[in-house]
Amino acid sequence: MPISVLTREDLIALDRADTLAGFRERFSLPAGVIYLDGNSLGAMPRATAGRVSAMVEQEWGIGLIRSWNEAGWMDLPGRIADKIGRLIGAAPGGMAVGDSTSVNVFKLLGAALAARPERRVILTERGNFPTDLYIAQGLATLLAQGHEVRMVAPDEIAAALNDSVAVLMLTHVNYHTGAMFDMARLTEAAHAAGALALWDLAHSAGAVPVDLAGADVDFAVGCGYKYLNGGPGAPAFLYVAPRLLADARFPITGWWGHAAPFAFEAGFRPADGIARATVGTAPMISIAALEVGVDLALEAPMAAVRAKSVAMTDVFARMVQQRCAGYGLEIVSPADAARRGSQVSVAHPNAYPVMQALIAHNVIGDFRAPDVLRFGMTPLYLGFAELWDAVEVLRRVLSEESWKQPQFNVRRSVT
Ligand SMILES: *Cc1c(COP(=O)(O)O)cnc(C)c1O
Repeated sequence: MPISVLTREDLIALDRADTLAGFRERFSLPAGVIYLDGNSLGAMPRATAGRVSAMVEQEWGIGLIRSWNEAGWMDLPGRIADKIGRLIGAAPGGMAVGDSTSVNVFKLLGAALAARPERRVILTERGNFPTDLYIAQGLATLLAQGHEVRMVAPDEIAAALNDSVAVLMLTHVNYHTGAMFDMARLTEAAHAAGALALWDLAHSAGAVPVDLAGADVDFAVGCGYKYLNGGPGAPAFLYVAPRLLADARFPITGWWGHAAPFAFEAGFRPADGIARATVGTAPMISIAALEVGVDLALEAPMAAVRAKSVAMTDVFARMVQQRCAGYGLEIVSPADAARRGSQVSVAHPNAYPVMQALIAHNVIGDFRAPDVLRFGMTPLYLGFAELWDAVEVLRRVLSEESWKQPQFNVRRSVT
């Protein structure tokens, strides 16, 4: 590729050729805001407010408890779960929606350990998202059977897979760096060592191609409020390979996971299918909101989403290098697009105040401790010219040193 400096006109040309450009107007975004944080909280689809208000005012307000049967509430979680499954290549019958990603990690990790009773190691990456690590640690403590959460560097994983490992637990796209693992290869390596594989798709679902069935993945979890645009705290999803379901034992046995919830039996009997991985009453209003985001994601061909995402991360990284050279920035996301998810992470010694200054100028990304500026690329509602403008604001913040202003140096609770 020629190393020509990208002009704003170049990026406007990319916007004109963008087959996904029409999705932008399906989202509600405030004018003037350049939103580079859809990897943390996706934008609101315009149709969400109407769907939620119909659910609240008609189905709940008027239908009351009758809506469980008459408005199809009982079937809603399964329907949305299957739709998410189509985005990630899930085998039919393996998907459920509900609870948080953290809780779903607990449930599936518990099932994985129960399926490998003679093994004691949960193998993971040291840089995995902390909640995944914390849940694993808490479960190991709770079980009190000598389980160990073994944390290694990404390039040490293959060598660490041995006959002590019960489950390999990884996040497909790393939240901090944007680095993407080879899911099929590592799942195969886990299986070759007799271990199970649990993948966290928080930064993958709706953002990068995933083929759970093709990669023969055992377990997966993921997030509803990032690239699926389900709203803050949206229900998460989980996947269990159907071949494992008949014997799968989950550590939380609630009535929605019972074979006959409305028989009100005193003893727990697991449901046959994926329902056994569910616990209690699903959050209908949140699931209705999530469905709107998932429907939008299903309308967009994944090949086009991935192509635009790769182009966006490429040009963003190039523009940062070209126009912000000399200000101490270092791109920490992989240079090879095949190993990168849909974000560009840039290290800077003063990343926190730099990001606060960007946000004050309506360029919204986020900060991840200790020193990373994170910029998420969401092909459904972000344009290329916006990326040019965002880099211009970054260049000004750095060259004018406006990040040194005191108000940008006060640490807030959410970064
Ligand atoms: C965002 C994210 C989560 C979030 O978990 P919650 O239970 O929804 O708070 C979990 N794991 C990973 C890898 C994430 O990126």
